[in-house]
Amino acid sequence: MTGEAIQLVEGRSCEGCTLCCKLLGIKELDKPQMAWCQHCAPGTGCKIYESRPTECAKFYCDYRTQSALDERWNPKTSKIVVVYRGNDRAMAVYVDPSRKDAWRKAPYYPQIKAWANSLCPQNGQVVVWEGNNAVAVMPNRDKPLGQGEQGQLVAVFSKMTPQGMIYDAVLMDKEASVESVMHKVGKT
Ligand code: SF4
Ligand code: SF4
Repeated sequence: MTGEAIQLVEGRSCEGCTLCCKLLGIKELDKPQMAWCQHCAPGTGCKIYESRPTECAKFYCDYRTQSALDERWNPKTSKIVVVYRGNDRAMAVYVDPSRKDAWRKAPYYPQIKAWANSLCPQNGQVVVWEGNNAVAVMPNRDKPLGQGEQGQLVAVFSKMTPQGMIYDAVLMDKEASVESVMHKVGKT
């Protein structure tokens, strides 16, 4: 979601999808992630389209905005919604709880790992939400972080070792500052 004009990939549509109305949380509606919005007609559309929250009106998943994600990434069939937030270099991969292993297969996993290889060295992160369970995907490993709640953030840390750079990640408490988390994991 962004305040800038959104460039959509030509020839793509949301027709028959609506998966973001289940997998993503909507603050304005107090809707948790991984639960259908009460206003959604699954597979059809929004029942309050004209008055839907701004958050919804401004949103398109990366399948709609990134031509590099080909038809195999269409959420309607992949059951995966990808959202990249450029300001934070944060890639979030939301996976339908009914198909929560979908991301572990090709072509998804190799691409998700490639994003981690590129973003983690730039202080970015890749987090897969298998339903409400978060998995941090990092160059050296994938770390299950347990059950997360709406609004929780993931902190990814790097450390240089004789074997090269390694990464670790923690799910932050809602109220925790990054500094306190860094202290807990021994970075200060
Ligand atoms: S997940 Fe993507 S393709 Fe599906 S309805 Fe939402 S924005 Fe459209
Ligand atoms: S208000 Fe409409 S667009 Fe927004 S999540 Fe609910 S069904 Fe989807």
